[in-house]
Amino acid sequence: MRELSWLGSSKVLLITLWILINGIDTKHAHASVVDSQSIVNLKNSNVVRYCVDPDWLPYEAIVDGRHTGISSDYLALLAHYTNLTFVLVPTSSWRQSLELLKQGECELTPILNQTPKRDQYLSFSQVFFKSPNVLVSLKSQPFLQGFENIGNRLLAIPKDYRLVEYVQRYYPSLNTILTSNERQGLEKVANGEVDVFVGSMFSVNAYIQQQGLTSLKIAGWGGPEDELRIGVIKAKKTLLPQINAGLAKITQADHNAIYKKWHNITVIEDIDYSVVIQVGTVLGMLILFLLYRTICVSKYNVHLEKNNKQLQQLHLELEQKNSDLDFLAQHDPLTKLFNRQYFNQTFLDDPRQPQQNKQANNNISLVVIDIDFFKAINDKHGHTVGDKILVQVAQVLQASVRDLDVVARWGGEEFVVVCQHVALHDATELCQRITDELTHFHFYNNIKVTCSYGIALLKDNEPIQACFERADGALFKAKQSGRNQYCSA
Ligand code: GH3
Ligand code: MG
Ligand code: MG
Repeated sequence: MRELSWLGSSKVLLITLWILINGIDTKHAHASVVDSQSIVNLKNSNVVRYCVDPDWLPYEAIVDGRHTGISSDYLALLAHYTNLTFVLVPTSSWRQSLELLKQGECELTPILNQTPKRDQYLSFSQVFFKSPNVLVSLKSQPFLQGFENIGNRLLAIPKDYRLVEYVQRYYPSLNTILTSNERQGLEKVANGEVDVFVGSMFSVNAYIQQQGLTSLKIAGWGGPEDELRIGVIKAKKTLLPQINAGLAKITQADHNAIYKKWHNITVIEDIDYSVVIQVGTVLGMLILFLLYRTICVSKYNVHLEKNNKQLQQLHLELEQKNSDLDFLAQHDPLTKLFNRQYFNQTFLDDPRQPQQNKQANNNISLVVIDIDFFKAINDKHGHTVGDKILVQVAQVLQASVRDLDVVARWGGEEFVVVCQHVALHDATELCQRITDELTHFHFYNNIKVTCSYGIALLKDNEPIQACFERADGALFKAKQSGRNQYCSA
C-alpha cells in the first residue's frame, strides 16, 4: 500500500468519504471548451476533439450532453493557458471512448492512467492529478487493508481500467470478475454477488453517495494511487509540449480550487482492532490475575482473621483455665471458702505475716470453728447431705463475718476465721452472731446444726501458729463444756 501524503498517515485508515458534488455542476463554465454542435464554426488547427468516460464522476461525466467533472475544469484551465480549443465528442461508455481514440475519431482524453496497453495508441502528458484506489466491501466484512488480504474473496474490477492490468500482473492468483463500470461493481458488492470491489476513491465515494449504498465501506487501499494524465493519440503527440506547458502554468491555487470543489473528505483514523484485542487480552489477563490475587489475599485474610479469632478464644479460655486453677489452688472446691493451703501460705508459713499484721493492726483474733456432732449427721442423713450441710455452714460463716475478715476451711468440718482490727470481745460477738444465724438458718432436711468456737487474740510478737494452737485449745474446752458455745484462750 502506498502512502498518501495528503492523508498524512500510513496507518490503516477507515475512510469515510463524502464528496459533495455541489449538485453536479452541469452549468460549469467551459472556457474555450466547446461542444460538438459548435465544431462547424471552428476552423483553426488548434481545435482538439476529445472523448471522456461518460460515467466516472467526479473525474468526468457527460450530463445532458455536456462534459463535467474534474477533467472538465482542468481542460477549461488548459484552454485558458494555451491557445487550444477542446471539442467534446460525446460517447455512451468509456469503452466507446477508447475505441474512438484508437480510430483517431477522438484526439485526446483528458484524465486517465498511463498503462503499457494504452501506450500503444496514446502519448501521455505529465501527471496533473493523483488519487488513491480503494477496496470496497460490505460493512460486515473485516478490514482488508490491501490486495494481500483479499484471499479467496471474489474481487470486481471495472473492465478497461488500468487496475485490471495491475491486478493481473501483481496478484494473478486473485479471483476476479470484470464489471462494465464502477457503478456496476459497487452494486454487485452491495447485493452480495462479489465480496470486494476496487476503484478510484473519489468516484467510488460519489457513487456510494449517489446510490445510497450505505451497506458499503472502504475496506482498504487498492494498489498504487492513480497518476492521472492527459492522453493524446500518437498522431497528435506534437500537442504534448503545449499541453505540458499549459499544465505547468496551472497554479497550486487552481489545483486546490478544483480539489475543493469536487470533494470533501472526512478521514477517520480507524482503530487497529487486532492491536486493541491483543492489548485488551493482556489487560484483561492482568486484571483477572490481579482479581485472582485479590481474591486469594482476601480469602487468606479471612482465614487469618478466623485463626486470630480462634487464637483469641483459646487465649481467653486459657486465661479462664489459669484463673480457675488459681482459684482451685486457693479455694476449697466444696464450700468455695479459702482452703487450708491459702491460710497457711498467708498467715502461718510466712513468718512476716504476724509481724506485719501485728504492726499494721493492733488486734488480730483467730476463731477456730468445729461443727458439733457432724459425724452423726453424716451417719443419719448420708455423706451427700453432710456435704450440703458443710456448704450451708460455709454460707452462714461468710455472711456473718465482715469483708476484711478471712474465712477458710481448715479441714473436715473445721473452719478458721482471721479477724483483723478485732479485740477479743468483738470476736466473741462474732461467735454469738454465728450461733444465732445457725439457730435461725433453715438447713437441708431441717437438720439442726450448731458449732463450737475457740477464740485467741494474737499477742505481741506471738507467732500466729502459737495463737492458732491456743485457739484450738480453747475450742477443745468449748467441746468439753458441752458444745454449741465459745471459749477464749
Ligand atoms: P464433735 O462434736 O466432737 O466434733 O463430733 P464430730 O462427730 O463432729 O467429730 P468427729 O471428728 O468424730 O467427726 C467428724 C466427721 O466429719 C468425720 C467425718 O466423716 C466427717 N467429715 C469430714 N470431712 C467431711 C466431708 O468433707 N464431708 C462429709 N460429709 N463429712 C466429712
Ligand atoms: Mg472436728
Ligand atoms: Mg465436729
